[in-house]
Amino acid sequence: MKSADVKERDQKYILGTYARNDLCIEKGSGATCWSPEGKKYIDFSSGIGVNSLGYSDTGWVDAVMQQLKNIQHTSNLFYTSPCGELAEMLVSRTGYKKVFFCNSGAEANEGAIKTARKYSSQKYGDGRYEIITLKDSFHGRTMATITATGQEGYHKYFNPFVEGFEYAIANDTDDLLSKVSEKTCAIMVEFVQGEGGVNNLKQSFVTAIYELCKEKDILFLADEVQTGVGRTGKLFAYEHYGITPDLVTMAKGLGAGLPIGGILFGEKCEGVLQPGDHGTTFGGNPAVCAGGIEVLKRIDEAFLSEVSEKGAYLRSKLLQMEGVAAVTGLGLMLGVAPKEKDAKAVVKNALEAGLIALTAKDKIRLLPPLNITIEELEEGLAILEAALK
Ligand SMILES: *Cc1c(COP(=O)(O)O)cnc(C)c1O
Repeated sequence: MKSADVKERDQKYILGTYARNDLCIEKGSGATCWSPEGKKYIDFSSGIGVNSLGYSDTGWVDAVMQQLKNIQHTSNLFYTSPCGELAEMLVSRTGYKKVFFCNSGAEANEGAIKTARKYSSQKYGDGRYEIITLKDSFHGRTMATITATGQEGYHKYFNPFVEGFEYAIANDTDDLLSKVSEKTCAIMVEFVQGEGGVNNLKQSFVTAIYELCKEKDILFLADEVQTGVGRTGKLFAYEHYGITPDLVTMAKGLGAGLPIGGILFGEKCEGVLQPGDHGTTFGGNPAVCAGGIEVLKRIDEAFLSEVSEKGAYLRSKLLQMEGVAAVTGLGLMLGVAPKEKDAKAVVKNALEAGLIALTAKDKIRLLPPLNITIEELEEGLAILEAALK
């Protein structure tokens, strides 16, 4: 089917919640993909940080296919091996105690929010339920997670929103402290805000809130849906800050293209949710977990060093470009602030010239596959440089 026909049918039948770009992707390999007409694109977006091993990676396809041939699904009323194996890998590499699998980032955050509230209500009784999140954060699209999202634009039309969220200014410890009260049960942060503009949290800010959390028995929730599973050059971004959050959520890159979300539970929280408190039909699906196992096998220490090296290389090349004012982010999650040009216009021009990139607020956002080759990086950078001119 031609691009024009795919587009026309999509616009006729798919609910219009996405402002799709004018590109239909038919097939791909590594960080390169093609339209039905055979036009080639370098992809610096990985489907928003999801295709961590690029398009249709052979090892990942084989792992998923092999599991599909055994069984594709059973309910969570029975045991299957892959979800336990994936959980064991996560636990042994992080030191966390338990894992819960779900299907998306929003769902992982919902589970973490429920855990924090139950932990607090059991220990301190009713009324200690508030969760402080940061302005410009993004935590998902469900009712609780859009409420948690610290952006006014999301807080309209759907009233009433969920009670008990407060918003503090990122990297402003005083502002955060002013929001803490006897009602506070948790603080939830992204170490690098993704959708909110690729904003890094400062070490001093993270240390201050971490110490506060420990002192007041407030839970520290890390939303690593975008930063997790190797994206920043560490398995999880909290490792950069030398802290151990009570709960860590993940999703995007873990499945390498199939839907999965997860929550890591530390010592304080491992026993909070009991049978009947939480669940999901699809979470821990064996085929999806088989893909996740392949991702974790591949993302070993050597692979993570390469992510850091490629990130540093990309950053230095970007900083040498005339049109670039600043580069933010960590590892292969980078935000590029153009000097004069509008980020959206740059991304649009780049797409026409064969590079897929994203925006986040007024920045160009780059999330290439973690195993992107230097050749693909060079090719994409050349297109981006031209689009910035
Ligand atoms: C994408 C994202 C989410 C939401 O994930 P979904 O899978 O779309 O529900 C939540 N938090 C962060 C930090 C994200 O980047």
